[in-house]
Amino acid sequence: MVKKAKTSPLRSWIEVPEGSDFPLYNIPFGVGRRPNGKVRCFTRIGNTAVDLYMLASLGLMDELGIPDLRVFKWASLNDFFANGRERVAAARERIINIFSENNPVLRTSHLDKTKVLLPADQVQMLMPIKVRDYTDFYSSKEHAEHVGAMFRDKSSPLQPNWLHLPVGYHGRTSSIVVSGTAIRRPKGQSSPSNAGKPVFGPSKALDFEAETAFITCSNTELGQPIEIGQADQHIIGMLIFNDLSARDIQQWEYVPLGPFQGKSFGSVISPWVVTMEALEPFRVAGPEQNPKPMPYLQTRKDRNFDICIEASIRTPEGSETLICKTNTRYLYWSIDQQLTHQTLNGCNIRVCDLYASGAISGPEPDSYGSMLELSWNGSNPIHLEDGTQRTFLNDHDTLIIRAFAEKQGMRIGFGESVTTVLPAL
Ligand code: MN
Repeated sequence: MVKKAKTSPLRSWIEVPEGSDFPLYNIPFGVGRRPNGKVRCFTRIGNTAVDLYMLASLGLMDELGIPDLRVFKWASLNDFFANGRERVAAARERIINIFSENNPVLRTSHLDKTKVLLPADQVQMLMPIKVRDYTDFYSSKEHAEHVGAMFRDKSSPLQPNWLHLPVGYHGRTSSIVVSGTAIRRPKGQSSPSNAGKPVFGPSKALDFEAETAFITCSNTELGQPIEIGQADQHIIGMLIFNDLSARDIQQWEYVPLGPFQGKSFGSVISPWVVTMEALEPFRVAGPEQNPKPMPYLQTRKDRNFDICIEASIRTPEGSETLICKTNTRYLYWSIDQQLTHQTLNGCNIRVCDLYASGAISGPEPDSYGSMLELSWNGSNPIHLEDGTQRTFLNDHDTLIIRAFAEKQGMRIGFGESVTTVLPAL
């Protein structure tokens, strides 16, 4: 399937507009609410949402090894993903087959297709998964160097451990929300001069972080690490992750145990989980790792993925400015290295854990994945289309992150992560 798609894009009998994020080859998974209020698992082809429970009710999802097809009726993808990577991949292949242009089974059937197919804009997208555990890594070398230079020490911005292990911290799941959810500006402590005399109030340095996140599809035993060659089997797919960050709060609180209040007030994901099968053709080599990682972290050469990420600010008046173009190919530590390191000590994982990459910055100034870096901690304002400037987010600004992979005429999109900043209470 992968080989065929590289040379001849698959065609569907459902219309797919030019440049759509959702060609037949993508088949991402999400959860949405139908106009009648029913919550179902969906996929999407072009501008059409496909109700997977209704599809399964027609008998079209039988014999995939998924013992209970009611998984498509639940308000999260957790039970579906718990079937594991192979069965989820088989379901994706089946869906591609059903909607291929030369398959008449559903296309020409007398069955009521309106129960299966809906205009995507009539389906309200919800949280795709119940997030079990959440880790945020810090895997972009450029980002870590920039933050280290600004917050700590220009001459040695990386901590001595950084090139030896994928640094990360455990975050909260309760405040991870789906695209479209507004986030209130947090209040907290900060120390403007960093001199030890803190003040309290609304954050004056509210930022985004352009990240991707991967999702796991298995439960492992406590005490049982995942070897790097097996890591892929535990990863079902990826989505966009906007790790909103209050830099003034973060800077004051983060030593010695890392971010706390500066990060936990809201993170915004895109609603569609794009499968690793769909992303497989977009594998690329990662940056050279020097020093060579320890053996348990040594992996394949093409350990990264070529996924473009774009962040834009939309002002309350409606004008939108693209402020960042970055790419997951810049990540120093790859997703298999991250998951392997996470479990090295015997820490177990569960179905629908979420592991974020950390803000992704590239080498060029317009590829920096946060306003902290784009504005260089406020010293270099970002100019917007409407003539105004930003160093950090204003109240009522909307931050939009889009992501897509593109190659030889094939485009696989993630959709969007959108959030609007509400004023502090
Ligand atoms: Mn982050």
